[in-house]
Amino acid sequence: MHFEKLKIASFDFTCCEGCQLQFANRESSLPAFFELLDVRAFREISSEKHDDFDMAFVEGSISRSDEIERLQSIRKQAKILVAFGTCACFGGVNSLKNRIPIEESVVEVYGEHPVETLPVQKISDIVQVDLSIPGCPVAKEEVERIVVSLVTGSKVNLPKYPVCVECKQQLNTCMFDLGEICLGSITRAGCNAVCTSGKTPCLGCRGPAEDINFPAFTELVKERGLSENDLREKLGFYNAFEAYRTDET
Ligand code: SF4
Ligand code: SF4
Ligand code: SF4
Repeated sequence: MHFEKLKIASFDFTCCEGCQLQFANRESSLPAFFELLDVRAFREISSEKHDDFDMAFVEGSISRSDEIERLQSIRKQAKILVAFGTCACFGGVNSLKNRIPIEESVVEVYGEHPVETLPVQKISDIVQVDLSIPGCPVAKEEVERIVVSLVTGSKVNLPKYPVCVECKQQLNTCMFDLGEICLGSITRAGCNAVCTSGKTPCLGCRGPAEDINFPAFTELVKERGLSENDLREKLGFYNAFEAYRTDET
């Protein structure tokens, strides 16, 4: 089958670069994966550096004014801009900084050597995003599937159903039955329930599943007598449920 390789570039902003590293993960399928890609610029995996690319993978959130300018310039250049990973899609763990007055957080971390920092924003707060791939980090199997869809001109699909489906397929004991709040029932699947399979509650890094019943979920937490403060902490951890949170949550 004939196909055009995707001309890609990858850029990191405020983040840990763990999502970009996923590109180089899964050695067994790596040669076939890179057969689909023409890597034009990607600091972590290639010394090539070219300005001509069609698709920009943007990792990280935005927390400085120079990042805003750089992102806008990437947007002008890219035909398709992908928000790559939870930091880019939702703000991610970096958003925790927004809870503290900026002056305080800068002094706490940098002391007498202040740096410029802005409240954390997700990529779509600044530029138009064509495709979002969530996950902290992104799941390489999902990235592979998406790249195959893009190369073959097929529709890109993310799971619409929640993490609970994948968790139940693995016959895990529900974290709620162990007295813990788990966001799996309102979070988009695709990670193969990696956290709950390791007996850690889901913190919702992949963001909301489709058609979730958020009020019913918060009611369940109350009915079980679980901590509403813990619920607030979990919902706010990746900033992925910003659109659903109320004054009570
Ligand atoms: S989403 Fe997670 S793994 Fe990816 S860059 Fe942000 S903190 Fe790192
Ligand atoms: S542990 Fe979490 S993901 Fe698994 S079934 Fe219970 S609520 Fe759903
Ligand atoms: S179980 Fe939840 S927090 Fe863990 S990787 Fe999956 S979506 Fe993210």
